[in-house]
Amino acid sequence: MSLDRDTREKLVRALADAMIQHAEELTRLDQAIGDGDHGLNMKRGFEAVLAALPALADKALPEMLRTIGTTLVMKVGGASGPLVGTFFMELGKALPEAPARADFVAATDKAVTAVKARGRSDAGQKTLLDVLVPVQTVLAEGGDASAIAAEAARAADRTIPMLALRGRASFLGERSIGHMDPGSRSAALLIGAAVATLEPEANS
Ligand code: ADP
Ligand code: MG
Repeated sequence: MSLDRDTREKLVRALADAMIQHAEELTRLDQAIGDGDHGLNMKRGFEAVLAALPALADKALPEMLRTIGTTLVMKVGGASGPLVGTFFMELGKALPEAPARADFVAATDKAVTAVKARGRSDAGQKTLLDVLVPVQTVLAEGGDASAIAAEAARAADRTIPMLALRGRASFLGERSIGHMDPGSRSAALLIGAAVATLEPEANS
């Protein structure tokens, strides 16, 4: 897949726009079952990522992703900062400069495993892993861009009836049921933005 400088810059802008434009929605979700800072946390982190452009897009893909990851760890704060940051850092460590599909499959698998270790968590606990794990599976099974985007949205919806077992929402016990997990929603938005940017490249 060709990920030239222009595409890398588009990707960074699309990820950041998704978080900045949905900050209020993410905040509302976190107000329901957390402390109401998820929208601001993600917005702050991705504003810092945006501020690193255009130099950020001059870097090769692996280094660009690692830099995004460390920026997010430093700026996002909350539980989500280290987790989302770890995902980007590990993806950067695992991907070659010109990744083929198999490289994306292997690298996302490593990144998801690192998030699990960092959060001491797994799918089924109403966290962003309930989006990352099934989306990685669709990618590994050969799903195309629209299948990946659709699974991301559906996976976030599937967190609504779940009982939270990790993070602040777990303090609510049964009252966490009936609300979408904020971290799952932000993960689905990021995946949707990435797929929409990379889809034309994948076909070229
Ligand atoms: P905080 O919970 O510290 O206020 P945020 O509101 O930014 O941080 O992020 C909350 C999100 O982080 C949750 O919706 C959930 O998806 C994710 N999360 C929290 N704890 C964990 C964990 N241990 N493992 C995986 N994800 C987690
Ligand atoms: Mg919060």
